Amino acid sequence: MTPLAILKELVSIASVNPMGRELNPSEMYESRVSEYLVGLFNSHNMQCERIEVQPGRSNVVARVEGTAGMPTILLDAHQDTVPVDGMSIHPFEPLECDGRLYGRGACDVKGGMAAMICALDRLSSSAQVRRPTVVMACTCDEELDQLGAQSIVGSLEGGPGHSLQLLPSLPDMAVVAEPTKLNVGIAHRGVVRWKLCTKGVAAHSSDPRQGENAIYRMARLLNVIEQYAASLDMATPIRDDYCGPPALSVGVIAGGECVNIVPAWCSIEIDRRTLPSEQASQVMMDLDSHLRERVDFEFEMKPPTTVAPGLSPEHNSDLAAELLQASRTVCSSSRIAGLPFTTHAPRYALAGIPTVVFGPGSIEQAHTCDEWIAIEQLEQATEILYRFLCSFK
Ligand SMILES: [Zn+2]
Repeated sequence: MTPLAILKELVSIASVNPMGRELNPSEMYESRVSEYLVGLFNSHNMQCERIEVQPGRSNVVARVEGTAGMPTILLDAHQDTVPVDGMSIHPFEPLECDGRLYGRGACDVKGGMAAMICALDRLSSSAQVRRPTVVMACTCDEELDQLGAQSIVGSLEGGPGHSLQLLPSLPDMAVVAEPTKLNVGIAHRGVVRWKLCTKGVAAHSSDPRQGENAIYRMARLLNVIEQYAASLDMATPIRDDYCGPPALSVGVIAGGECVNIVPAWCSIEIDRRTLPSEQASQVMMDLDSHLRERVDFEFEMKPPTTVAPGLSPEHNSDLAAELLQASRTVCSSSRIAGLPFTTHAPRYALAGIPTVVFGPGSIEQAHTCDEWIAIEQLEQATEILYRFLCSFK
């Protein structure tokens, strides 16, 4: 078993997250990759279970039993990829060229998954007498709603849903695969997204005074929001060195029916990056009251469409130090890092599990039209993860 061989197989099996859209059914969802993973774990004599989270969408969990009294380590890698629109390479025909492996998911995050599987396989067949218990969770739906990680945390917290045979209680720590260039990611911001709407009164555009223009109202709000966004940096008392300041951006605007009607509606979509210490509901309320103090008309904040918490560096420093030590023996430039993107690692962290993010490849190569991973980093990640797992004796 080599990480490159496994990665090629994983890339050749489409597992696109449709991100809420209708896409080619033969490429959508994780079921084909889940089936492959079950076969792979079985053929390497690793216990494994497949848990359906939604129709066609499963988590696959494998377990290598360790010595009694040793810690339990959770390794997580998601099975889904982003869609393939506009790709300049064939997304599902892995291409090896100049030390790189090209294909959708090669970097995010089938490369990280292949490295974890190989490290686990090496541990399971090694002669090391004392070793930790390692549970590998291949999760679904990371790219949209993080249903897979939510399901695992739900089962650990005894909530409704499936209980996991192979992970019956909280693990002692978790490593989540994402492309970190072999750095150890200990913190990142979260995100909350929602719609804000203004209403007006429609009227014939020949006499606009008869109506109330919802777009003009939104323009007034947008002025305030722009200033608010600029001041966020200063206004937030808690600064977090690994995450940088919070941020707010308006990414979409829509409104009006046609040019000769005074518009009765306008809406915008807001993307607010949150610090790990911030609550999504609170930041929405803060903006809401800030705006209401400054305008004299009604507007509506819709419930959030996305809420992903941030990863706090508060409880993962021992784990980070351990993984960094293993990483430095293979890659001397490896360091502790804050990440510029969100992951589902906070789902585990908020359940009380010390969690870090680690993997080969760079986020700059993820989600791109010619997604690729450096094969050397793929192999280094495997070695690092194996040394990390062996460091528990
Ligand atoms: Zn990812």
